[in-house]
Amino acid sequence: MKDKRIISVKGPKLLKVRNELREVLLQARDAELRKIRSEMEKIDSNEVGDSIPMDELAPSQLKRFRELQQMESVNREIGDKSICMCFNCGRADRDMYYNHPYRAWFCVECMEFLRKGYSKMVAKKVRGEYMCDPDDEFGQSFF
Ligand SMILES: [Zn+2]
Repeated sequence: MKDKRIISVKGPKLLKVRNELREVLLQARDAELRKIRSEMEKIDSNEVGDSIPMDELAPSQLKRFRELQQMESVNREIGDKSICMCFNCGRADRDMYYNHPYRAWFCVECMEFLRKGYSKMVAKKVRGEYMCDPDDEFGQSFF
């Protein structure tokens, strides 16, 4: 993947196909997350739904719970950083910009907003109007 890349679709039929494919993939991810979460709740909840403290779980239960937490985190990140949705705003129906340093996709609107915001902060910092240090690593990743 190139460092900076915008994937843009123009035709209404292609837009519809793209958006629907993204939705299908995100729904599949969400279904997987629900399965993982359900198994986690079976481990960390008693018969009436009250949560069981982690230190009261059997070692095998705790091991499985930690595996599920890891699976949940990986599955969530795969979807959140995929081209299916903007990493910043979560919209799934936009043209996307690949931000290589963050290994994530941002919609073009968020990319432009974040780029302008960073430029304004730097300009204010130079003029002494902004006392905090802008997040250079994040801001510069959009240029
Ligand atoms: Zn966005």
